[in-house]
Amino acid sequence: KLYNMVQDLKGNIRVFCRVRPIFNSEMRGVIDYIGKDGSLFVLDPSKPQKDARKTFQFNQVFAPTATQDDVFRETQPLIRSVMDGYNVCIFAYGQTGSGKTYTMSGPPGRSATEMGINYLALNDLFLICDKRKDMMTYEIYVQMVEIYNEQVRDLLAENSSCTKLDIRTCSSEDDGLSLPDATMHSVNSTMDVLRLMEAGEVNRAVSSTSMNNRSSRSHSIFMVHVRGKDTSGGTIRSCLHLVDLAGSERVDKSEVTGDRLKEAQYINKSLSCLGDVIYALAQKNSHIPYRNSKLTLLLQDALGGQAKTLMFAHLSPEEDSFGETISTLKFAQRVS
Ligand code: ADP
Ligand code: MG
Repeated sequence: KLYNMVQDLKGNIRVFCRVRPIFNSEMRGVIDYIGKDGSLFVLDPSKPQKDARKTFQFNQVFAPTATQDDVFRETQPLIRSVMDGYNVCIFAYGQTGSGKTYTMSGPPGRSATEMGINYLALNDLFLICDKRKDMMTYEIYVQMVEIYNEQVRDLLAENSSCTKLDIRTCSSEDDGLSLPDATMHSVNSTMDVLRLMEAGEVNRAVSSTSMNNRSSRSHSIFMVHVRGKDTSGGTIRSCLHLVDLAGSERVDKSEVTGDRLKEAQYINKSLSCLGDVIYALAQKNSHIPYRNSKLTLLLQDALGGQAKTLMFAHLSPEEDSFGETISTLKFAQRVS
């Protein structure tokens, strides 16, 4: 409790770490200890036992045994605050294969118990709409885009491959939308949401036939806009952004060239810009460098101020991912 209070004083930025299971039982893991207090110890496989341990501290750490429901329950209060007018951003960070999409959407062909935060969050927002219906009337709209090579693409458009969107940075506009041209869908049930998310995922996959596994090299952003009106005419307007980031792995510059190198450079740049923005917010700096990437520009009004931010740092626990694990942990430690 005290720790949470300290965090609240420090700001509205939280970092959760999630470690996925090891699938190949022949592989050794590097996770030494996960504490209920959010501590995490990892072992450097290249060092002798006594020097091998590195320790980290987060708001929460989820072990490989944590279920989707366990993770959602810890995230729920934050998500619910959207219905009280707070902007909320949730990011999934980590190398490709570490479980970002699993946390946000769930595994491919997911069952009801495997649904990710995107679905569980919307489900919860609809429950609140219903519970408060005598006091508040809510309207919920969604947009879904991806950022690939610093271009924003509408994933819910009829012909998504053709639409490159401009970001509006003038927050004084009445509707408060940063992507006024992205297709906007009004949603009234979790079925509506599921249908749209699936359509968006299909659109994202379509373009990956030409370049294999493009989805790990683009940021996917699910935007949920909430408008509420109470019985005395008061209104609220807020937004929940659910972001499945591009894989954070560093590519070896000697091994890739051309388009693949360009892609990697765009990803490195946008992830480090995101880190810089969250760090600047946590430090309460007067200048926040939103303009250095499309991702941060797009989220300018959704990050900072009274907004609440949650970063999930995902880890692949195998020994051969140790380098990426450390770089993910350092990124997460810096912004927390
Ligand atoms: P990323 O989106 O970071 O590239 P994925 O979410 O696709 O990673 O996860 C890689 C693989 O691991 C997928 O097959 C996914 O279903 C599985 N996976 C990830 N996290 C978990 C978890 N916590 N429990 C079980 N399986 C997981
Ligand atoms: Mg993924």
